[in-house]
Amino acid sequence: AEMFGQLTSGLESAWNKLKGQKVLTKENIVEPMRDIRRALLEADVSLPVTRRFVQSVSEQAVGIGVIRGVEPDQQLVKIVSDELVKLMGGEVSELEFAKSGPTVILLAGLQGVGKTTVCAKLAVYLKKLGKSCMLVACDVYRPAAIDQLKILGKQVDIPVYSSGSDIKPSEIAKKGLQEAKKTMTDVVIVDTAGRLQIDKSMMDELKDIKKILNPTEILLVVDAMTGQEAAALVTTFNVEIGITGAILTKLDGDSRGGAALSVREVSGKPIKLVGRGERMEDLEPFYPDRMAGRILG
Ligand code: GDP
Repeated sequence: AEMFGQLTSGLESAWNKLKGQKVLTKENIVEPMRDIRRALLEADVSLPVTRRFVQSVSEQAVGIGVIRGVEPDQQLVKIVSDELVKLMGGEVSELEFAKSGPTVILLAGLQGVGKTTVCAKLAVYLKKLGKSCMLVACDVYRPAAIDQLKILGKQVDIPVYSSGSDIKPSEIAKKGLQEAKKTMTDVVIVDTAGRLQIDKSMMDELKDIKKILNPTEILLVVDAMTGQEAAALVTTFNVEIGITGAILTKLDGDSRGGAALSVREVSGKPIKLVGRGERMEDLEPFYPDRMAGRILG
């Protein structure tokens, strides 16, 4: 299923109700606004976010008056489009790099969200930008995770630093960073342990690693299929460890779009990158305007 298919058609029914109108009024936008509200909720956007969105669009629509050569339905499309871009953070949010020495990117996230895959994808992405990378395996609880990272590293020709599973993740991280300095590596990408759900030991471990590495980026990897829950997760991780942004994975699945639409507004943190497939090349910056364009069809 096309990710935004339902949302797109839900919004279309809003514009369609304005065909033949001369101007947007308080009265004739009631029905279209109801459609927009329903479409957002069905796309798994949270109720408070939906409410604010609808209210802002309504206010703008009523105040806009007659615009020569632009039909009311097209006026509403434009207002909704701009508001969607704003909701998703406006501008693209670029990755930051350290002024000197290796840039450290710490990746966190629950189990199964695609974190290990993202490590390798991110290295491939950064390599294209001319940066050398190293992956560091700090998920010591699942030996299979270390192996998986090594296999992916080999596949994309990126070195992986690992130190088994007998020493503390923060120690591994420290040694990995030393290794990166020695080899003049530009970016160190640190894979951390995921859990099925948030727990204190996971957060404590992330705090430990953060203290030792002083990362430039701390990115939470979130599965787009979790819908509204994605925004709540980003908020929790941000409050607990202080993150710089999120990476949304599995945008190629039949997620309804709520995560992409809500994360920024709810958590205050930007989605920096999105994964839209299992191939190593399937990671790209999150462009709010392009995303809005896809939503509006
Ligand atoms: P981790 O437990 O968070 O490290 O998750 P993994 O990196 O092992 O990924 C879990 C599964 O999700 C694997 O089967 C990946 O191939 C798959 N996966 C990861 N990212 C994406 C994506 O963007 N799209 C799709 N369709 N699958 C993905």
